[in-house]
Amino acid sequence: RRKHKVTVVGSGNWGTTVAKLVAENTRIHSDLFEEEVQMWVYEEQVVIPSTSPHYDAAVGDAPQKLTHVINTYHENVKYLPKIALPSNVVANPSLVDAVRDASILIFNLPHEFIGNVCRQIQGRILPYARGISCIKGVTVTEDKVELICEYIGETLGIYCGALSGANIANEIANELWCETTIAYNTPPCDKRDGNGAPIDGCYAQPHLDARGQACKVPLTPVPLDYPPVSHDVLHSLFDRPYFTVTMVSDVVGVSLAGALKNIVALACGFIEGHGWNMTAKTAVMRRGMLETIQFCQDWFPETIREMTFWESAGWSDMIVSCTSARNWRYSKLAAERGVSLYDIERTELNGQKLQGISTTKEVMSFLRKRGVEDRYPLFKAVEGIVDGTFAVEDIPSLFRR
Ligand code: NAD
Ligand code: 13P
Repeated sequence: RRKHKVTVVGSGNWGTTVAKLVAENTRIHSDLFEEEVQMWVYEEQVVIPSTSPHYDAAVGDAPQKLTHVINTYHENVKYLPKIALPSNVVANPSLVDAVRDASILIFNLPHEFIGNVCRQIQGRILPYARGISCIKGVTVTEDKVELICEYIGETLGIYCGALSGANIANEIANELWCETTIAYNTPPCDKRDGNGAPIDGCYAQPHLDARGQACKVPLTPVPLDYPPVSHDVLHSLFDRPYFTVTMVSDVVGVSLAGALKNIVALACGFIEGHGWNMTAKTAVMRRGMLETIQFCQDWFPETIREMTFWESAGWSDMIVSCTSARNWRYSKLAAERGVSLYDIERTELNGQKLQGISTTKEVMSFLRKRGVEDRYPLFKAVEGIVDGTFAVEDIPSLFRR
């Protein structure tokens, strides 16, 4: 029997953390997965400071390739410093080479880069590969809002599920316990009976997209000599003693809760930076969750399941993001300093990204095109605060009758 080759596309704070935990599992489940996990790294030069244990006097202050540093010291010194990576994580600067022959692709990079990445690997991956997107964001085109995992699936001609939860990368990298949610709505052509044979007739059925429609792109079935990419196999790949995975089928709820909470996290940071505290923040979280659910019901009514908002990807992520994640932390700092969020991202984040900024812009442009932006007063206010056209102290007035 063949084993799945796993590649992580992306190597930021979360991308590197997920590569670590997945590589721990490929070692354990050697019947299912090849041990080596490729991690595509957007190559850049780094300087190792003389205080670092990885400082090499012969190299001194000369810049070095990040991939070389990761593969030599098994540490992503820029995006996940001080965390030892298993030696079976292999950093690869070539995107095309990293995804070659991978049957499971894990997409984990800021959502603004996913279009370019997909264009580069289109037609250069296994046709029967399956994907999991750990990306929190949406893609908006002229006429529609699309889940990132569906965008990936449609662009690459594969099926792609979504992983999202109350997950602060540094905590998980330090093996502090948390939960996550994986949504994977197994296409019928992947369904097998107990002997691994395809279920009779299933190859003839189309699988359904996030709007409950039959997918236009026919899926290539996973060959029978591989383990099926089932909920059980994905659970084996991601679940760790410090990372408890719940598998669900609601790809819309998991994807959109993870994307839209970043808008609410910005609102909470602005509020706290303004000097208000938990009572104001919980009011904003509640309003933000109502707008999130309304967004799902407005645009994906066929498939959304409200129970998903009680999973880690729902309320748990809303709470953690509004109290301790980067979008909250740095919007609070922006409000405290009275500077723009763009300035803060540029000066304070050392290359990391605040997904809330672009998600707010994209979601609002989509709503405005349809003339329904006033049905989402909190999302609209966040856009105004980011642009400097709305004052934080006016948030309560949005909700007065
Ligand atoms: P990050 O913000 O830490 O890092 C930015 C990454 O973007 C780096 O790897 C950098 O090399 C890369 N990059 C820069 N320019 C690029 C380009 N032109 N093309 C491609 N890549 C480029 O990233 P992250 O935290 O790993 O975030 C990835 C996704 O995971 C996001 O959607 C985020 O919302 C989500 N997420 C993050 C966390 C977390 O705690 N960090 C937790 C859960 C989910
Ligand atoms: P930040 O990108 O704001 O750090 O959010 C991380 C996250 O998604 C927490 O679940």
